[in-house]
Amino acid sequence: MPATTFRIFRYQPDSSEPEPFHQDFDLEHEEKLTLLDAILRIQNEQDGTVAVRYSCRSAICGSCACKANGKTVLACMTQVEQVKAESGEEIVRVDPIGNFTPIKDLVVDMTPFWEKFKAVKPFLIPDGPAPEKERLVPKAAMEKIANESKCILCAACYSECNSLAADPEFVGPAAFAWGYRFAADERDGQRKNRAKLYSGEHGVWDCTRCMFCNERCPKGVDPRDAIEKLGSIAFQEKVTHDKGARHAKAFLISLRSGGKLNEILIAPYTDPIGAPFNAPLALRMAQKGKLPKSPLTHKVKDRDQVKKLIKNVKETI
Ligand code: SF4
Ligand code: SF4
Repeated sequence: MPATTFRIFRYQPDSSEPEPFHQDFDLEHEEKLTLLDAILRIQNEQDGTVAVRYSCRSAICGSCACKANGKTVLACMTQVEQVKAESGEEIVRVDPIGNFTPIKDLVVDMTPFWEKFKAVKPFLIPDGPAPEKERLVPKAAMEKIANESKCILCAACYSECNSLAADPEFVGPAAFAWGYRFAADERDGQRKNRAKLYSGEHGVWDCTRCMFCNERCPKGVDPRDAIEKLGSIAFQEKVTHDKGARHAKAFLISLRSGGKLNEILIAPYTDPIGAPFNAPLALRMAQKGKLPKSPLTHKVKDRDQVKKLIKNVKETI
């Protein structure tokens, strides 16, 4: 029978030990044991004050997300032995999810997450008068948003988000997955307004594309893909005022005209006002040979392949 040491994050601000620390608990257990069951056994058998949030124990309610050896998981669908095997460590360290403020042990304050979720208007806002019976949608149209509809709001993606670590105001992957779920719903009449709402400061263009949200989402929602699709919707709706959108557009113009990236054109197109302030950086890049000699000579020979590629991408989005 395996034995495991669980190193659990403890934080009880109202106790005689108000500073955070880690406490070890040893447990003998069957080969098959979920991380949530391990925490609940520790709570029942060793220390009733260990605080954890959970409800369904079936990967549906999304309450029990936490970090196991540094990676965010849903505790009820994660095997202890799997954590040990994947991390190569015998001790399982359990921490609260990242980018949140702990309230007590593994329980965090979810308020910012819910505020951002509400801010994206995660509900249908149809145009025109209500139909007599219902709004029918073809199956294929619903399949386009099937992935995003699987989100259980567990915040595992939010916990791993690099943009949020740098900017706590960033709306975040889960909220954007819901934003896309409604922006792309045929029954919704707010596509352009949603594109405006999701662009701009702290919006879709502030994502660093680290892909950790896709990697750690326990339900296969792929929130980064949803963010990318929201970027496409912004372009289709001509909501391209944000620096991020202009940057993406600059890439496209550069590829179309020369077949490869032209850094000389990208910076001023992205930020015409701020670009002159980057002159010292541009000078250093030029000294290291990282800038093309002239924007006009910066072209590949066979640009047809690049044009075909751009056309294919346009047809698939
Ligand atoms: S997108 Fe995935 S990880 Fe993020 S809240 Fe939804 S289910 Fe959880
Ligand atoms: S890909 Fe974007 S949204 Fe997803 S975790 Fe990274 S920065 Fe956050």
